[in-house]
Amino acid sequence: MSLRFDALVCDLDGVVYRGDQVIEGAPEALAALRERGVRLLFATNNSHFTVEEYVAKLAGLGISASRDEILTSAVVLGEVLEDAGVDATGAIVVGGPGLREAVESAGAHVVEDPGDAGLVAVGWDLEFTYNKLRVASAAVRAGAAFYASNDDATFPAGDGVLWPGAGAILAAIEVAGGRKATVVGKPHAPMAEVCERRLAGATNIAVIGDRPDTDLALGRSRGWTTILVTSGIISKEDAAGVDPPPDLVLGSIAELPETLGR
Ligand SMILES: [Mg+2]
Repeated sequence: MSLRFDALVCDLDGVVYRGDQVIEGAPEALAALRERGVRLLFATNNSHFTVEEYVAKLAGLGISASRDEILTSAVVLGEVLEDAGVDATGAIVVGGPGLREAVESAGAHVVEDPGDAGLVAVGWDLEFTYNKLRVASAAVRAGAAFYASNDDATFPAGDGVLWPGAGAILAAIEVAGGRKATVVGKPHAPMAEVCERRLAGATNIAVIGDRPDTDLALGRSRGWTTILVTSGIISKEDAAGVDPPPDLVLGSIAELPETLGR
């Protein structure tokens, strides 16, 4: 099969690497795509790490990427907040350094007291506690703007067991706070809009990912070409049953350059 695209939204975990292990052939495939003039945008729902940490991680795996080519759900949240004008707003942040950095770059400042908060931002937080739930939900109940990086229920942590994701933490705060957050990560519209903003000028965008419910759903909602890989969460057997079917199923991103139309 031959595909035509001049920009690729590329998921990270399960596509480029699994945990700390590079997917065989991924660095070479990405280099080959660049050589053919395909613009790359690495997009992840993981809001924990900073853009700088991703640049370093990819470099360590033999993949060169600029800061502008990395889009985390935290960065998307920061851009959404900037558009919404949260300048000088006090923010309760339930999340890691990546989310904190994005909230601060939008002009908000982190506070601990719900009475000082005009904003609550939620992502995956390894140190989530009852006290954080109490403080965040109090601010939500008091009317603070309420955003989340993503709503993934679980993620594969590498030990063969699914760990609770940002969506599980978010659900607790939504239940206690009495209302729902605006979610910005895949498959929701803000992530897609920021991707298209970054890739302005591209005529055909494709998305490659290992999760039908986030990566493929994101692409489908925008009419992008959808490519599923079986190097991540979905097995080859399960990929055949994915509905609606993606435009292309590959064993891994290593096979992608040869499918490009000439
Ligand atoms: Mg993935």
